[in-house]
This record gives sequence, structure tokens and C-alpha cells, in this order.
Amino acid sequence: MKVNVMADILKANDLLAKDIEKLLRDKRIVSWNLMGSPGSGKTAVLEKAIPMLPEGMRVAVIEGDLATSNDAERIAKTGVQSAQINTNGACHLDAAMVRSALEMIDLDGISILFIENVGNLVCPAGFSLGETGRIIVSSVTEGHDKPEKYPSMFSTADLVLVNKMDLVSSTDFRMDYFMKGIKRIKPKADVIPVSARDGSGFEELISWIADHIPGSP
Ligand code: MG
Ligand code: ZN
Repeated sequence: MKVNVMADILKANDLLAKDIEKLLRDKRIVSWNLMGSPGSGKTAVLEKAIPMLPEGMRVAVIEGDLATSNDAERIAKTGVQSAQINTNGACHLDAAMVRSALEMIDLDGISILFIENVGNLVCPAGFSLGETGRIIVSSVTEGHDKPEKYPSMFSTADLVLVNKMDLVSSTDFRMDYFMKGIKRIKPKADVIPVSARDGSGFEELISWIADHIPGSP
């Protein structure tokens, strides 16, 4: 019985997600569902990346959070439009939440929408938000076994950012082990090591984002 209820919830979500997908496609907006553990650095990555994007690439951000607007306030400081979703304890974003957040954003002229999901490596993977693709932020302090431990999450990634590289020498993180997990679970995912703190890897990240704008070579 429980399984059926869940299937119905996911089906209803998928229908709404299709609407969002169409809306964003009509407006030629690329959208990235940004996922990862709490504290992996999702907001920090956005804070670092947004000011580095070329002038023509206008960005909007939807911030999902259990209870606070701390991250939306951080994003607002970068000068881009941001909308806050408080899930009131729900551990993932769903398409209905994103649709109502989109009503708070002026989408005209926007070319990239980042949707920062609730920090969680489990259920956000199951809920489509109508996004173009998914970016997972996984930090070296979380260890190198995350891909193999959370295959349903990592199997949906278009890009994996290995964050906090500035700390790697203080950890037992092994990039070869991490990469082996990615190669097994999602061989097509791109992987970029970054540090949102010192900015390393961000030029590559910006190129990746630019390469994934429709019409780009
Ligand atoms: Mg955050
Ligand atoms: Zn959840």
C-alpha cells in the first residue's frame, strides 16, 4: 500500500515537472538542480560562480531550505534574483514548490536558473523539478565513498563537483577511489575538483556552465 502511495506522489510530481520543463524551455532557460549533503558547499559554490559568469548570462536562484532564509540572503548579495522556498521540514524540493517559487521571479532575460535543493543525498534524487540537469556537490570532508553509498543520487548527475579541495591534504580522501565510484555509477558524468574557498577549479566550472547553454558549440 505504502509503495502505491509513493508511486502516486511521484507521478503527480512528474506531471508538474513536465509543465515547469516546458515553461523553462519556452523561455530558453537552462536549469540546474543543485544537490548534495548539508554543508557540502552548494551555496558557497553559487556565491563564487555567479560573479564569474559572463555578463550576458543572467542568473536566477531558487533556494530550498528546511527552515531558514540564510542561503537566499547570501545569494541576494551577489545581486541576482533569488526566491526562497521553506519546506517546513520536508527533506527535498518537489515540483509544486518550484512552480510557486518561479512565480516570484521575473524570468525575462534569465538564461540560467539554479535550484539549490535541500541538503540530502537520498530523496531529492527521486523528485524531478523540471530541470535541464543535475549538479551534485560532494566535498572531500565527506569521504570518497559517497558515490557508491548513494548510487541513486549520483546516477542522476550531469556534473559532480568535488568541493573543499583546499582541505584535501587534511583528509584521507582518495580521488581515484571517488572516480572509480563515479565511473561505475554514472560514467558520463563530468567531474570537476573545486574549492569554493580559494576559487580553484572555478574557471573549468564556468566553462562547463557556458558549454551547456543551448546553442553553444
Ligand atoms: Mg545551502
Ligand atoms: Zn525527502
